[in-house]
Amino acid sequence: MKHNGLSDSFKMQTKFIPYGKQDINNNDIESVIEVLKSDYLTQGPQVAKFENKICSFVESNYSVAVNSATSALHMACKALGLEKGDFLWTSPITFVASANCARYCGANVDFVDIDISTGLISLEKLEEKLEIARKNNCLPKILVPVHLAGTSCDMRKINELSKRYKFKIIEDASHAIGGFYESKPVGNCQFSDIAIFSFHPVKIITTGEGGIATTNNESLYKKMNLFRSHGITKNEDQFLFESPGPWYYEQQSLGFNYRITDIAAALGQSQLKRIKNFVDCRNQNHKTYKNLLNDSQYNFLEIKDNVRSSLHLTILSIKGINSSQHKNYFMELRKRNIGVQLHYVPVHLHPYYRKLGFKEGDFPQSEAYARSSFSLPNYPKLSQKEIIYIASEIEKIWKTL
Ligand SMILES: *Cc1c(COP(=O)(O)O)cnc(C)c1O
Repeated sequence: MKHNGLSDSFKMQTKFIPYGKQDINNNDIESVIEVLKSDYLTQGPQVAKFENKICSFVESNYSVAVNSATSALHMACKALGLEKGDFLWTSPITFVASANCARYCGANVDFVDIDISTGLISLEKLEEKLEIARKNNCLPKILVPVHLAGTSCDMRKINELSKRYKFKIIEDASHAIGGFYESKPVGNCQFSDIAIFSFHPVKIITTGEGGIATTNNESLYKKMNLFRSHGITKNEDQFLFESPGPWYYEQQSLGFNYRITDIAAALGQSQLKRIKNFVDCRNQNHKTYKNLLNDSQYNFLEIKDNVRSSLHLTILSIKGINSSQHKNYFMELRKRNIGVQLHYVPVHLHPYYRKLGFKEGDFPQSEAYARSSFSLPNYPKLSQKEIIYIASEIEKIWKTL
């Protein structure tokens, strides 16, 4: 390979540095092997064990583990009774799944623009939009605040608005396990109906594919539990009809097969043991970036004092750059084997959502954010040397823009 005109440090960096990556150790591997040798690969004891451990970790009463956070979002919307004619609101700066879950239920989606300094849903805009919706009699049934980058939204304030305007709250905490809000773990549902987490390999802890919903509401828990497995119960106490015999099981609603395997649930338990270390490493990496890139053109998303972010993402925006400079930055960094990424393409600008009537200009702060931001590599095994390399290449490219 030839790298014309590029720096020495680039020549040294031959391995691609992704923006995120799992951390698997021998204990993780052993825990999976143990399940493979056991009687149950699925519907065995590991799933409930994993759920219990997540409940104690996030301090929620109940949890339902499933095969992805996308499934968890769908299940949560169903449990909250979202249906045709209803509205679900979320942020445009999220993964499409936060909005798609409403579409699965036949409901409508709308968005609330972000606060560009935090990247999170703007509470001023939310309040304004709710007031208009109240007058027009089209208040949302569900709001999905997204804890972008692992940084919790202001849940106390969102909870106050939910009481005033009578909507339900599903926290999309896909990025945020291991994070805290007002010194309490994200997912404790003090200010929401349900919280969901993702265990995709780029997230804080992984089960391969996987997700979980947490709640303190027993009735929501029971609904989600049924929904995960076809709407079927084998629990005699819950039967609607009298059991004709020991073979009997009962389908009570229309569910899906969203079950997680015991293999994945065992990996999740093993990963959970190291979560504090993972989050500490991510916070340390983030701090190193901030110390190295401390000129005024570099903006990192703001984290409020009452939040401890899990720092799933380190998102940098560069003040005053235009879209072509933004694109150049991406291309130059990728050339240098630095896997920067945009989190996210504003959801309303995807062809699917444009077809539903959304267009450019609808959410100006989200669009401005997407023209100037990128996620820098951040994961536990990222070395300080790699961070120094990345930061120095960012500075060099800035000078050539
Ligand atoms: C990753 C992610 C999801 C979906 O997670 P899966 O487990 O891959 O289904 C949903 N919302 C956000 C914000 C995410 O980052």
